[in-house]
Amino acid sequence: MTQQNITILGSTGSIGQSTIDVVMRHPGRFRVHALSGNLRMAKLAEQAHYTQADCVIVPTDDAAKAFRDAFGLQGKIPEIRVGQDALVQTAADRETDVVMAAIVGVAGLPAALAAAQAGKRVMLANKEALVAAGSIFMEAVRANKAELLPIDSEHNAIFQCLPNVSKALACQTPEASVDRLILTASGGPFRDYPLDGLDAVTPEQACAHPTWAMGEKISVDSATMLNKGLEVIEAHWLFAMPSDRIDVVIHPQSVIHSLVQYHDGSVLAQLGNPDMRTPIAYALGFPERIQAGVAGLDLVALGKLEFDAVEVDRYPCLELAYQALRQGQSSCIALNAANEVAVAAFLAHELPYLKIAQVIEQTLDWECSQSQSRVSDLADVLQRDDAARTFAAAACQTSRDYHRASVNS
Ligand code: NAD
Ligand code: MG
Repeated sequence: MTQQNITILGSTGSIGQSTIDVVMRHPGRFRVHALSGNLRMAKLAEQAHYTQADCVIVPTDDAAKAFRDAFGLQGKIPEIRVGQDALVQTAADRETDVVMAAIVGVAGLPAALAAAQAGKRVMLANKEALVAAGSIFMEAVRANKAELLPIDSEHNAIFQCLPNVSKALACQTPEASVDRLILTASGGPFRDYPLDGLDAVTPEQACAHPTWAMGEKISVDSATMLNKGLEVIEAHWLFAMPSDRIDVVIHPQSVIHSLVQYHDGSVLAQLGNPDMRTPIAYALGFPERIQAGVAGLDLVALGKLEFDAVEVDRYPCLELAYQALRQGQSSCIALNAANEVAVAAFLAHELPYLKIAQVIEQTLDWECSQSQSRVSDLADVLQRDDAARTFAAAACQTSRDYHRASVNS
């Protein structure tokens, strides 16, 4: 077997670190070509030493200096590439065989798309890329014969539960024998929290996820369940499934990662401990299965698996995502952009938790009032994303001013 070169975009994050863990278990099979990080240069330097990566991508010249200082004089320093263009170029490098797209947010879209356009095997964790640019992204996969392997645990589970025929690249119609897709959701840290106390919850509480250890943004998204909304949109694009055939069910244990219901009444599920190294290893090894370092399930210790309907009042963001998907690509861009802005404000203690849904709703309303034209390329997506961010930032500011005025009065 020829060794494959991996480029890990967002290597310093939660998914990036899990990817390095799996890759380094298989030295004959994979080697690390490139790593990227945005802020934590000491972490990136440590990873570069450990993996002996050929190159690293950092955001600025200052970050490059910080990386050099952190790397020190021991060992061969990797080539340092700087800026967003370097992310795009490295994702499409001749030396890159496989790209792990694990940058958070629309910031990761240009490089993930470049990997698809260059016909790479794309391991997609960056769900926001597909939410904002679904049709463009899937078309790039098809046109360039890229391989798209979902990393999100729910989509990876569905991928595993589909018959081999529908694992062909980027299908345009749903698999004929499939009735519905069922996404599981843990319900996040506020599943049983008193509804009238939600206005005062803190970022620290929102980030304390009961079953998964993840980055801050996706942790907040899990608390609001906007994450599940993004995943409904992601499933729509990955599996060409209409939104009314994608269901969500609460499953607090996060052991069943998702299910596929077939026309004959059979329901196939994928189970495992909640550890992202399993879907990462599945995508890295596909179609073979390789060691992930994850222990098997102890069913007896688990005892029982529970399921619940989603409480609409607790998770208004989920319905907003279905609404955006029904409305079309521009609304999905606005949904995602507004959420990124609102979550950043919440994490900075500048926006109350319950206002996240409100800012998204206002941005969706605003977007519907804009003149509608086709979103046909990356530039269109980024331009609309930018406009929606500007609107959402103003909505956050208004909410902040109102909050201050009511506290002072
Ligand atoms: P994280 O915050 O832990 O890591 C994000 C990575 O992106 C870091 O390496 C960071 O340096 C980089 N980054 C952030 N902003 C950037 C920018 N503007 N430009 C370039 N790089 C930037 O996030 P995570 O939890 O690892 O999630 C990464 C992606 O994977 C997200 O899209 C998330 O929704 C998805 N995902 C994560 C999990 C999980 O378990 N963590 C599960 C499913 C999907
Ligand atoms: Mg998920």
